[in-house]
Amino acid sequence: RSNAEKFEFQAEVSRLMDIIINSLYSNKDIFLRELISNASDALDKIRFLALTDKDVLGEGDDTKLDILIKLDKEKKILSIRDRGIGMTKEDLIKNLGTIAKSGTSAFVEKMQTGGDLNLIGQFGVGFYSVYLVADYVEVISKHNDDKQYVWESKADGSFAISEDTWNEPLGRGTEIRLHLRDEAKEYLEQDKLKELVKKYSEFINFPIYLWASKEVDVEVPSDEEESTEEEETSETTSEDEETEEDASEKKPKTKTVKETTYDWEVLNDVKAIWLRNPKEVTDEEYSKFYHSLAKDFSDEKPLAWSHFTAEGDVEFKALLFVPPKAPHDLYESYYNTNKSNLKLYVRRVFISDEFDELLPKYLSFLKGLVDSDTLPLNVSREMLQQHNSLKTIKKKLIRKALDMIRRIADEDPDEFHNKDKTEKESEENEKKGQYTKFWNEFGKSIKLGIIEDAHNRNRLAKLLRFESTKSEGKLASLDEYISRMKPGQKDIFYITGTSKEQLEKSPFLERLTKKNYEVIFFTDPVDEYLMQYLMDYEDKKFQNVSKEGLKLGKDSKLKDLKESFKELTNWWKDALSSENVDSVKISNRLDNTPCVVVTSKYGWSANMEKIMQSQTL
Ligand code: ADP
Ligand code: MG
Repeated sequence: RSNAEKFEFQAEVSRLMDIIINSLYSNKDIFLRELISNASDALDKIRFLALTDKDVLGEGDDTKLDILIKLDKEKKILSIRDRGIGMTKEDLIKNLGTIAKSGTSAFVEKMQTGGDLNLIGQFGVGFYSVYLVADYVEVISKHNDDKQYVWESKADGSFAISEDTWNEPLGRGTEIRLHLRDEAKEYLEQDKLKELVKKYSEFINFPIYLWASKEVDVEVPSDEEESTEEEETSETTSEDEETEEDASEKKPKTKTVKETTYDWEVLNDVKAIWLRNPKEVTDEEYSKFYHSLAKDFSDEKPLAWSHFTAEGDVEFKALLFVPPKAPHDLYESYYNTNKSNLKLYVRRVFISDEFDELLPKYLSFLKGLVDSDTLPLNVSREMLQQHNSLKTIKKKLIRKALDMIRRIADEDPDEFHNKDKTEKESEENEKKGQYTKFWNEFGKSIKLGIIEDAHNRNRLAKLLRFESTKSEGKLASLDEYISRMKPGQKDIFYITGTSKEQLEKSPFLERLTKKNYEVIFFTDPVDEYLMQYLMDYEDKKFQNVSKEGLKLGKDSKLKDLKESFKELTNWWKDALSSENVDSVKISNRLDNTPCVVVTSKYGWSANMEKIMQSQTL
C-alpha cells in the first residue's frame, strides 16, 4: 500500500512472536478469548468515559456496546469487532509492537523453559496469540480522536500502519481480521466458535454476537408442475371465478424447502454473576468465572471464594477468590507497586482495576471484584479514590478475606483443629492438603500482613504455619503449639536460621529438646522481621531460644552455681572486653555443649546479622 509506514517490532516482542508462530502447542483455542477479553476491556473504557460525557458514544449503532464475530469461509478470514474505545495511530504503534510490556521478557523466558502458553493473558501479551492460528493479521481501528487506521503484520519482524481509505468506516472501535492458516480452518466453523465462547468467554459483560447461519423451513411454490399449473390457472381464470371449489383444490401446490439465512446470534448471557444469589450459583460457575476474571486458564480451581453483600451505610457486593497459584511476579513487584487485583464496579459499570485503596498490599494476591451502590458514578477516578466509603469497603474486604482463608484451613481434614469435625469423606478428600497448598503459595503474604497490619495481627497469626521440633515434617499452627505446651510453660519458643537441618544441630536446642519442649523453626529471611512485630499470641510471649531471657522453670542449683563460678565468669568477661560481650553468665539452657554465645534481648540474632550483612554487600 502506497501510504503504509513500516515499523520494526521491539526485540522482545519479535522473539515472543517467533515463539508463538513456531509453537507446536496444541491448544490454539486461546486466541479467541484473548481477543474477546481485549474487546471487553475496550468497551469498559468507552463506557467509563461515557459516564461523564455521553457524546463519546456517538449515535445510532455506535452507541451499542457489543462484540461481533464474523466468518468468511472462502477467504478464510475470522473477524472480531468491538465498538470499544478504539486505538489512535499512536496507540496502534505503541500497544501492538514497539513497546514491550513488563511481562514480555518474563513470558519469553517461561516459554523457553517449557512454560504454558495458556497463561499468556496473565503476562499482558495476549494479543500476540493470534499468530497461533493466523499468518497474517489486520487490525482496523477508529478512535474518537483520530482517523481510521490499519495495522497489519505477517509476523516477520515488522508491521505496517496505513490510514484506512478502503475498508468500510467503523464509526468507533476495532476490528481484528485473522487470515487463518490452513491448519486452523476449524475456526471457520460456527459450532466451534460457539463452543469456545461458551467455554472461555461466558462471563464477558457485553453481548457477543456471531453472524450465524440458520437453516429455516420456507414454503415455496412447487417447481415445474407448478409453473404449468400457473399457466393453467391463467388459462382458466374464467373457470376459477365460476366455482370456488375448483380453486381450493389447486391451491396446495407449494412445498417446504430448507433455506439458509443469516442473522446475529447472541452467544453469552450477560447477567453478572455477582448480582445473583450465591445459593443459586454452582461451584463450577464460580470456578469458571474465576478463570475468566483472573485470565488464569489452568485446570486448577481457585482454593476458595467468598461472595457476599455488604449492607448499611456503604452498600456493595463483592466476590473474592484465592487463586490456586501465586502469579509469577507476586513478590517481585510487591515493594514497588501497590496494585490490587480487584476490579471496582459502580452500579455494574467497570471503573478501574488499579485502585490501591481496596485491599492492603499483603492481600494483593487475591482476585475478585467489588460492585458498589454507594460510590458516585459521575466523578473522576481520582476523586473516587479519595471517597470516604472506600475505607469502609476496605475494612470489610479484609475481614471477609481473612475469614475465607481461615475457612480453607478449617475445612482441610489435614489441619489441626480444636473442635470436632463432622464432614463427609468425599468432601474431605477434595479438601485434603488445601491449606498446605495455600501456605506454600501465599504464606509469605500472611507474614507480611502480620508485619504491616497491626489491627489484624492476631487474626493473621492464626493463619501462620511453621515446622518445629515436634511437627514431624508437617506444618503446625500456633494453636497446635499451644495445645502441646508443657504444664507450666509460659513462652512460645522459637529459633531462627537458614534451614531446619542447620537448626536441628544447634546447641541452643539441646536442653529444650531433652526436656521435651517444642521449638519453632523460622527459616525464611522474612521471619526475622516477622518476629520483631509478633510479640505474643493468646497471652503467650515469644522467646527466641538463642537470646537472653530464656526461662526453663525453676532450678535451685543455679543460684549456687552462679556463686561458685563467679570468679571464672568475671575473668572471662574481662578477657573478652565489654566491646565484645555484655555479660558472661552461668545458665541451664545447655546440655552437652559447654558454652554458647547468646544475643541480648533486644539485639539482632546471629541469623539477623547474617541477613543484614548479605543485604548491605
Ligand atoms: P493486555 O490486554 O493484557 O493489555 P494484550 O496483548 O492483549 O495485552 O493487548 C495489548 C494492548 O493493545 C491492550 O492493552 C490495548 O491497549 C490494546 N488493544 C488490544 N486490543 C484492543 C481492542 N480491541 N481495542 C482497543 N485496544 C486494544
Ligand atoms: Mg489482553
